[in-house]
Amino acid sequence: MKRIFVAALFLAAVVLGGCGQNARQPVLYRDTDIAMGTVIQQNIYVRNDAEDGGTVTEEILGLIRRMEQETLSRRLETAEIYLINRRREGEAHLQISEELGEILMECQDVWEASQGAFDVTLAPVIRLWDIDKWSEGAQEGTFAVPERQEILQALENCRSGEIRLAKQENGYEMELPAGTELDLGAVGKGAALDEIRRVLEQREEISGGVISVGGSILVYGAKPDGSSWKVAIVNPADTASAIGYMSLKGTWCVSTSGDYERYAMVDGIRYHHILNPATGYPADSGVRSVTVLSDSGLLSDALSTACFVLGIEEGMELAEKYGAEALFVDTKGNIVMSPGMEECFTSAK
Ligand code: ADP
Ligand code: MG
Repeated sequence: MKRIFVAALFLAAVVLGGCGQNARQPVLYRDTDIAMGTVIQQNIYVRNDAEDGGTVTEEILGLIRRMEQETLSRRLETAEIYLINRRREGEAHLQISEELGEILMECQDVWEASQGAFDVTLAPVIRLWDIDKWSEGAQEGTFAVPERQEILQALENCRSGEIRLAKQENGYEMELPAGTELDLGAVGKGAALDEIRRVLEQREEISGGVISVGGSILVYGAKPDGSSWKVAIVNPADTASAIGYMSLKGTWCVSTSGDYERYAMVDGIRYHHILNPATGYPADSGVRSVTVLSDSGLLSDALSTACFVLGIEEGMELAEKYGAEALFVDTKGNIVMSPGMEECFTSAK
């Protein structure tokens, strides 16, 4: 709850420029809702003579819910991922939608580039850790760490290297080894941002906006007063405060992966929700959070997860490979940034 409040506070700061509008300035439409198991906040500027300007937040919320229900969810029986994970035995060639095919193509690319640090087939291990049932922040009550043997067994079904995708006229054909399941928890929010951006681009009456889907944020277009968008980065050591903020002009996606987002403490050890596919255990690469800035939502989301697993040195190389900017906070509280990030980051100190 505290985190939600902090996010609200930061976004309020982001849109302060929208107050006190005169008649010529765009109208600010705001909405806060729940979808994809997280908080969706929208602040969208629409030209004041536009008809139906107020429908944009509803349209975007509808889009996020559609993606969750039709495509991304592991829990909803209507979603492609749910149905793929419960396919009949022996069903190795599957017809999937263009939307899912394109997301998976990009995920496979990051899997390869990250040497397996980002892996959409971790589902059996994620289930073993019970991550889906964890709420945001620290878990209450008792938490049992899975047995090493169980983890090793579950890892045997993580076989991204054997997935094959082939583009067809109406979607993709996917080859998936028996026993392999998919989990798009690390990229669903970023993929949603890319779709939202397409909606905004189609409506020329929209001049700018900020939309956050959990920890993934899209800043779009221009602020009415011409200043830059400000996106705060949470301080992992005190999640009610920020280490600083990025000043961004134009359209960008920002995603943060942190060990403070969902975790359980057992005997002084922090078990969090970003797993190292090489071990099946929470990644332990010396970082507490990674923020990635990219013009693609899916990439910013996939790379923040991958960079968290890889740590600073290899993570930085990966971000660079994709032309993305990255900011790492290590376990000692040091901040390490790519050169492009340095240009837009202002420290709170
Ligand atoms: P959040 O979803 O909290 O923003 P991330 O984007 O980093 O955080 O995604 C973490 C989620 O992705 C986990 O809850 C889990 O479902 C899944 N996941 C965990 N480790 C990995 C990994 N190495 N590769 C791909 N997905 C992962
Ligand atoms: Mg991610």
